[in-house]
Amino acid sequence: MHSTGEVNRFRAAARDWLSTVASPRVADVWGAGDDSVAVFENWTEAEEQAHTAAAQEWERTRYDHGWGALRWPAEYGGHGLPAYYEQVYRGEEAAFDVPKRAEIFPVTQQLVAPAIDIWGTDEQKRRWLRPMLRTDELACQLFSETEAGSDLAAVRTRAVRDGDRWVLNGHKVWTSGATVSTWGVAVCRTDLDVPKHKGITVFLVRMDAPGVSVRPIRQMTGGASFNEVYLDDVAVPDTDRLGPVGEGWRVTLSVLAAERLDSGSLGLDNADRAIELARHRSRVDGPVADLYIRTLVQRLIGLRVTAALVAGKEPGAEASVGKLYATETMRRTSDVVLRLLGEHVVADTGEWGTFAWTEHLLGAPGYSIAGGSDEIQRNILAERVLGLPKEPR
Ligand SMILES: Cc1cc2nc3c(=O)[nH]c(=O)nc-3n(C[C@H](O)[C@H](O)[C@H](O)COP(=O)(O)OP(=O)(O)OC[C@H]3O[C@@H](n4cnc5c(N)ncnc54)[C@H](O)[C@@H]3O)c2cc1C
Repeated sequence: MHSTGEVNRFRAAARDWLSTVASPRVADVWGAGDDSVAVFENWTEAEEQAHTAAAQEWERTRYDHGWGALRWPAEYGGHGLPAYYEQVYRGEEAAFDVPKRAEIFPVTQQLVAPAIDIWGTDEQKRRWLRPMLRTDELACQLFSETEAGSDLAAVRTRAVRDGDRWVLNGHKVWTSGATVSTWGVAVCRTDLDVPKHKGITVFLVRMDAPGVSVRPIRQMTGGASFNEVYLDDVAVPDTDRLGPVGEGWRVTLSVLAAERLDSGSLGLDNADRAIELARHRSRVDGPVADLYIRTLVQRLIGLRVTAALVAGKEPGAEASVGKLYATETMRRTSDVVLRLLGEHVVADTGEWGTFAWTEHLLGAPGYSIAGGSDEIQRNILAERVLGLPKEPR
């Protein structure tokens, strides 16, 4: 374990470096500037491409200066530091004006790359890890299907072996970031004759391969950050199979566990802003105080996850609790804002910080579903942590 002195020296070095490449973030002045509290960005495809390109450029700068892949070994551009150094770095970066990373960035760097590290061959690691950590190549999750969301092991997209390649056919849905990704991590059925968890194999599919078509889905927020993806006779070389044939369920679980780990800080910024709103309207009452306490508790849960990482443990229960807690914080933020703003949230009168909240109100429910719904997190906690009897399946 590293000493507090070492961590503080790292923190200071990060701050010094950041001040040479970025400007300090100008503190928000209430009532002026950007009032966006969007949970999912309301971008056109062109805007999504432009924002992604700006964030990629920043991530490349970070990577090329040795601040991008902190926990990874030198061969992948890193320093082999403990995982929590990434959080320390992010804490410092938050004080600087750098492009906001859309969801596809953590999906690539924190979900897909670690799964490749666990399951990839040496050749795959050499080929994929650097470009993904540097975000030259982004990777989306081709997991869900219309009949296989919570019950992901029920996927029906078929992959059939044909010599040294596989042919994929199926329909994936709710794929975030599909239009800006080079790769899609596809969970496919390769064996129909074994129990469903055993007949799955994972492939990395090039999103520009012949037979892949992406159709954006309009969400109730107005934007289209996720998509349908059709796979029609898509040829994938066997060298792009991740993990052994039939072991895809375990590969998938590696990605899902990392996804929960990444969800604990969701909603905190908007909760803080809702509390500010109450202060400015002189309406700090019980529910606002309750929301304030939740933000403290959620940050403490985040620290427990960090503490588990510092101690070299896999944070399991803390991560599920964190995800569940975060989605409830988002819901309560909506309740507080609705009480404070009433009809001002319904019509766009141009007043700063009012109608903008519709993007939180309409976006927040999505996170109670994405990455495993609230009910599924409760099942995980009940069965795997509390040891309660499993529900009938
Ligand atoms: C914003 C967003 C982004 C997403 N991004 C991606 C992505 O990038 N890639 C991807 O592959 N998928 C993505 N998804 C899909 C997401 O993973 C699924 O929506 C989710 O797993 C739930 O599956 P479902 O929608 O099929 O709901 P269902 O599984 O049909 O569930 C319907 C309802 O039944 C409940 N339920 C189901 N089973 C149980 C059970 N055993 N016990 C108790 N209750 C249960 C659920 O909690 C839910 O309320 C995204 C979803 C959202 C909302």
